[in-house]
Amino acid sequence: MLEIIRIHNELLGTYGDRGNADVLKFRAGLRKIRARVTDISYLDPLPASGDIYLLGGAEDAAQLLSLTALRKGSILKKSADRGAVVVAICAGFQIIGNKYVTRDEEIKGLGLLDVVTTPGDKRLVGDIAIRSDLFALPLTGFENHSSVTTLGADAQPFGRVIEGNGNGLAGLDGAINKNVFGTYLHGPVLARNPEFADLLLERAVGSAIASVDDELALRYATWRRSLLK
Ligand code: GLN
Repeated sequence: MLEIIRIHNELLGTYGDRGNADVLKFRAGLRKIRARVTDISYLDPLPASGDIYLLGGAEDAAQLLSLTALRKGSILKKSADRGAVVVAICAGFQIIGNKYVTRDEEIKGLGLLDVVTTPGDKRLVGDIAIRSDLFALPLTGFENHSSVTTLGADAQPFGRVIEGNGNGLAGLDGAINKNVFGTYLHGPVLARNPEFADLLLERAVGSAIASVDDELALRYATWRRSLLK
């Protein structure tokens, strides 16, 4: 049974990223891989048994509450270190970095990705498209944040920005380190880019998964291909 842990949706659910868990479960089911989504409140301990951990975007106060809860026991860091898949969107991405800075304070992150986030000078809102070496087609989503993120030496960018802002610096979006992924793409990103969901499933089960006929995703991909021109 593939265990998908949706972390603190009551805090990290502002931008609809909860759908990422449902897409993973659905696409696992297409391959007859049994999967279960477990919602974990910020009042509950984080299970150490997850195969995939998901974090979404949030308002600043909720972001801090979530980070404070996740510090207990360092379960997320230990899980990433043993190879569990972690996908963190926007505020979630900032939480799993080394630190983020608000207008009032500097906050130590969980240290899963070698990135630092600082306040930007404007809000970055709108459609975003990126090109990642992991995928043949561009990934699309929407972004809504004001902070900007800088990568350290141990983080690779998730993608290069074609349209929009992403990390807000150097034309890059997100960061990756082994099975840990951070990005600014809401959407939910896995609904809009199902091959990203499939890559995560492959990483979680540790082997290639069968391709599936997916008429809707194919039609959408035709449009995404046009972004390359
Ligand atoms: N509060 C963070 C920022 O504005 C994250 C916002 C979000 O998760 N969409 O940078």
